[in-house]
Amino acid sequence: MLRQTFLFLSRHRRLRRWFETSRHAGRLTARFIAGENLDDVMLVVRRLHAARLLATVDHLGENVTTASEAISSREVMERTLDAIAGSSLPATVSIKLTQFGLDLSDGLCVENVSVLARQAAAIGSRVEIDMEASEYVDRTLAVVEKLHAEFGCVRCVLQAYLHRTLDDARRMNALGIPVRLCKGAYKEPPAIAFPEKARVDENYVALSRLLLDAGAYPAFATHDPRMIAAVREHAARTGRTPADFEFQMLYGIRRDLQQQLVEQGFRVRLYVPYGDAWYPYFMRRLAERPANVFFIARNLLRA
Ligand SMILES: Cc1cc2nc3c(=O)[nH]c(=O)nc-3n(C[C@H](O)[C@H](O)[C@H](O)COP(=O)(O)OP(=O)(O)OC[C@H]3O[C@@H](n4cnc5c(N)ncnc54)[C@H](O)[C@@H]3O)c2cc1C
Repeated sequence: MLRQTFLFLSRHRRLRRWFETSRHAGRLTARFIAGENLDDVMLVVRRLHAARLLATVDHLGENVTTASEAISSREVMERTLDAIAGSSLPATVSIKLTQFGLDLSDGLCVENVSVLARQAAAIGSRVEIDMEASEYVDRTLAVVEKLHAEFGCVRCVLQAYLHRTLDDARRMNALGIPVRLCKGAYKEPPAIAFPEKARVDENYVALSRLLLDAGAYPAFATHDPRMIAAVREHAARTGRTPADFEFQMLYGIRRDLQQQLVEQGFRVRLYVPYGDAWYPYFMRRLAERPANVFFIARNLLRA
């Protein structure tokens, strides 16, 4: 119930405007968001590197409504890739296609993200393409395939809660496209997504096996110790080494588990968001774990 409420609130425009311009915004979001600008996020990326954690940098924002906003998003990401190149750190970037014009036209979106994929290829980085709500899945995968064929340095995201994902994973494996497997963070109807958590988890485990057996350097994005154990167990059983895959987690979530995996020799990449359009991202994190509200309230009261 609370989960549904937060997912509903994540799309609420007026609340979004109010929260994002609040003078308490920084204190509210500090745990999950690296800061407002590029310097803030690069500081975090360097700090993570010192703790042997990899990073994928996201500039917050989604669903732009004009071509000039889409171009501005691209320019911010070009500067982000420049900063990554300048740091010589093995960071990647993560993007949402609706931030680059997917709601306006596929052509505009492809034009924008091709610039980023070309730049990422030139500096030995990668563009990780987040998966948004189900209405975007077909078009997102089509863009991923196009970019993969031309530049090679992309990763797509598949969501274990969707019924279709087994077929998509087989296709990505056949094309040699690296996948980030997550459970899925949007509100989807039962006709296309498993409503029960147990079924999502079951599908996650089955998909992780498929990706370990036949995928191209898969990434397992989860904080769930049971999913992590299942990945580790299958990898060990089939002779995969920690260099054959990576775990991914969100900045600020389960820091104990992140460090533990690193100490055990696994690669762990953190998804590190920055920017001022943080509201939908933040609300999805609350939907995943409503208890975060108490944690945030405590932070506000302390400050
Ligand atoms: C790197 C990364 C990239 C992602 N990219 C996408 C994407 O492109 N598209 C998409 O739809 N979803 C994406 N997600 C979100 C994902 O789909 C899930 O909503 C989210 O990861 C929670 O699922 P879980 O696997 O951690 O397991 P859950 O079963 O939700 O949680 C397991 C345990 O993890 C901890 N936990 C989980 N979430 C939180 C939280 N918010 N705060 C505190 N603790 C928490 C709790 O201890 C919880 O008991 C991404 C997640 C990660 C880690």
